[in-house]
Amino acid sequence: MHERAQGRCEGCGKIAPLELHHRKYRSRGGKHTLSNLVALCGWGNHTGCHGLAHGPNPPQGWSLPSGRCDPAEELFLHYWGLIYLKD
Ligand SMILES: [Zn+2]
Repeated sequence: MHERAQGRCEGCGKIAPLELHHRKYRSRGGKHTLSNLVALCGWGNHTGCHGLAHGPNPPQGWSLPSGRCDPAEELFLHYWGLIYLKD
């Protein structure tokens, strides 16, 4: 997904240091797949989009529940708009 991100945060579009975020957290059974991973800015100090993703009100598709949901079938609010991320 670094290739997909092209150095830009996939949440806000900023060129910034990026961190990998698991949309379905690893603790919830999330896997290391392209559809489950997004490159987001921030996190140190719980800031930026990575902080937002782990906060109380993450944007659509940023924080997926545990269980049967498949990240490839869950819309993700990208800075382009709502998209599906392909594996
Ligand atoms: Zn961002």
